[in-house]
Amino acid sequence: MPYDPDNVFAKILRDEIPSTRVYEDDEFIAFRDVAPSAPTHILVVPRLVEGVAPASPAALTEADAAMVGRLVLTATRIASEQGLAEGGYRLVFNSGEDAGQTVHHLHLHILGGKALGPVA
Ligand code: 5GP
Repeated sequence: MPYDPDNVFAKILRDEIPSTRVYEDDEFIAFRDVAPSAPTHILVVPRLVEGVAPASPAALTEADAAMVGRLVLTATRIASEQGLAEGGYRLVFNSGEDAGQTVHHLHLHILGGKALGPVA
């Protein structure tokens, strides 16, 4: 699926839709999920580069490897800042229809704050 620059996360990045941001730097922003699946549910999202972002994990290429590594490390730092390190947490990428991906802009879910149970 080609990247749609009017997807909801692109609008959040442009402040066209409000969000509760918990972190931002030059490369990523993180904000609370509007429909949380756990007591702490945060989405970490890469900023647009030249107007685009990967639409999903399936759209990633070798050129994205370092960015994805930094995305995961950023999520682990945010999880620690949110007090999740001791109890543990889950990081989730959804890719495509069977995974239930609804927003086609790469994002990493941070879920924690309770025992999460089986993955699926
Ligand atoms: P996906 O299912 O695509 O992996 O996850 C998309 C997530 O984005 C869902 O958990 C959904 O609740 C969240 N979401 C959708 N629209 C909005 C919005 O406008 N604001 C925020 N903060 N989260 C959203």
